[in-house]
Amino acid sequence: MGRDCLFCKIAAGEIPCQKVFEDEWVVAFKDIEPQAPHHILLIPRRHIPTTLDLAASDQALLGRLFQTANQLARQLGFADEGFRIVNNCNDFGGQVIGHLHFHLLAGRRMGWPPG
Ligand code: 5GP
Ligand code: ZN
Repeated sequence: MGRDCLFCKIAAGEIPCQKVFEDEWVVAFKDIEPQAPHHILLIPRRHIPTTLDLAASDQALLGRLFQTANQLARQLGFADEGFRIVNNCNDFGGQVIGHLHFHLLAGRRMGWPPG
């Protein structure tokens, strides 16, 4: 576990969250400050600080994260309408929590370019 890492604590069940999916590898839960009608965070259970820290051996994990996003999009009914998956990396990317996560946003039309 990453020392004092909020998302490690959420993954371990030490901090409560509104969980929507979990398995051995991945946990998905609702963002505490939603930016869209659906705003879910997908994280690996294992502490990986940023996308830059993904290794070749993490291919399967990355696949599982995206499979989970697709599954949730279908289950929650916004797959056809559309959605956005976002990863913020480091300071300029807007990353606040140093545990790799993907934002799954849906339920409204997304703007482009992003802010
Ligand atoms: P980042 O800016 O690092 O890409 O995104 C971090 C996200 O985590 C933000 O959207 C923020 O609202 C969310 N977040 C921060 N603290 C908590 C928390 O304690 N619980 C949940 N569910 N989400 C959180
Ligand atoms: Zn962590």
